[in-house]
Amino acid sequence: MASKSVAKEASEIFLASEMIKLGARLQVLQAETSLSYDRLARLYREVKGCSPPKGMLPFSVDWFMTWLPNIHSSVFHSIYQFMDTRSPAKKSQALVEAYRLYLEQASTGRADEPFGEPVLSFTRAWMLVRFFDSSMLQLSYCERCKGGFVAHAHDPQKGFICAICRPPPRAGKTRAHAAACKKAVASASPLIDIEVVAQLVAGKSRRPAKVTAVHAMAVPSLA
Ligand SMILES: [Zn+2]
Repeated sequence: MASKSVAKEASEIFLASEMIKLGARLQVLQAETSLSYDRLARLYREVKGCSPPKGMLPFSVDWFMTWLPNIHSSVFHSIYQFMDTRSPAKKSQALVEAYRLYLEQASTGRADEPFGEPVLSFTRAWMLVRFFDSSMLQLSYCERCKGGFVAHAHDPQKGFICAICRPPPRAGKTRAHAAACKKAVASASPLIDIEVVAQLVAGKSRRPAKVTAVHAMAVPSLA
């Protein structure tokens, strides 16, 4: 048996620990590196200080279609595509770099909870790339804003309007978001459009008139 290159193994360990820090599950590390299960599990415990979670990976394609996950995955996918095609980072390295950039973008404007759980986890981001690679997903282009959004493969492109241009009526009205809005108003955070937040808390604004207001409401963590 040919002995394994030490340099290759070192770079794989480095890549795996970067992924663990970003929240990768063990199955992702097994797919992306040639390190053994035992070594990966040990590395996981060293980096995270706890045992890796057990159980299946989230396999649903439909998750990416609900409005907020759809916006977040579309943002992530466009960053990933850029990194993979136009930067020296390729494949798994591009995934790591793109996910870091996504986290930066997703936490912008979340003054109340800058390090809260991201909508798109690293493992879901990895699944998203695999779904695209296996042609289960495609990008559909919004007729209004022209942006590319994650959609089921073979969905008709004609007449497609994205979740930012046409958010669902209940968009952003979760209990957690309402609580976050109240907290933001109380601390008068300069990063959040106070007028929109006030309307939201009062339950007045169903469909904001201005496009900028739509973005502030529909994508609280990306605003
Ligand atoms: Zn649009």
